[in-house]
Amino acid sequence: MNQTSAPTLILGGGFVGLFTALHLSQQNYPHRIILIEGRDRFTFKPLLYELITDELHTEQVCPRYTDLLAGSNVSFVQDTVKAIDLHQRCVVLESGKDYKVLSRDPCNFQQDGLETVALSRL
Ligand SMILES: Cc1cc2nc3c(=O)[nH]c(=O)nc-3n(C[C@H](O)[C@H](O)[C@H](O)COP(=O)(O)OP(=O)(O)OC[C@H]3O[C@@H](n4cnc5c(N)ncnc54)[C@H](O)[C@@H]3O)c2cc1C
Repeated sequence: MNQTSAPTLILGGGFVGLFTALHLSQQNYPHRIILIEGRDRFTFKPLLYELITDELHTEQVCPRYTDLLAGSNVSFVQDTVKAIDLHQRCVVLESGKDYKVLSRDPCNFQQDGLETVALSRL
């Protein structure tokens, strides 16, 4: 894996974001994957009824991202995306950190030494 190349950002760790991140990781995707999600726990929504009726407990229905991603090469960042500025090619997070976006296509970007990413999902 080429960990020195620009990472791929996935914004939002719902079903789509989380499973995309895990799938890429399992496919030996050659770039670092960063999943940015506002919450610390994934919610398996089809099981919410079982949670409120006490048939299942929180850890089963709402596991922590850090547990779900353990052993994968996905880095989890708990933060809220404040803005995606396509004109400036920048993803701005609530914490103040921002990522420069070189391309929305993960297969088509160039490295230039900045903190740069390919944005895989908008
Ligand atoms: C009670 C319930 C039961 C359901 N049952 C089924 C079912 O049985 N089968 C089925 O196919 N579908 C079911 N669905 C629908 C299914 O849950 C949705 O289709 C699915 O969650 C959509 O996935 P998603 O990744 O697009 O969005 P979401 O799952 O909504 O994920 C979006 C993620 O992005 C994060 N996020 C949002 N904004 C920001 C931000 N600014 N910065 C950082 N993070 C952010 C959110 O915290 C969230 O984790 C159910 C839904 C509900 C509510």
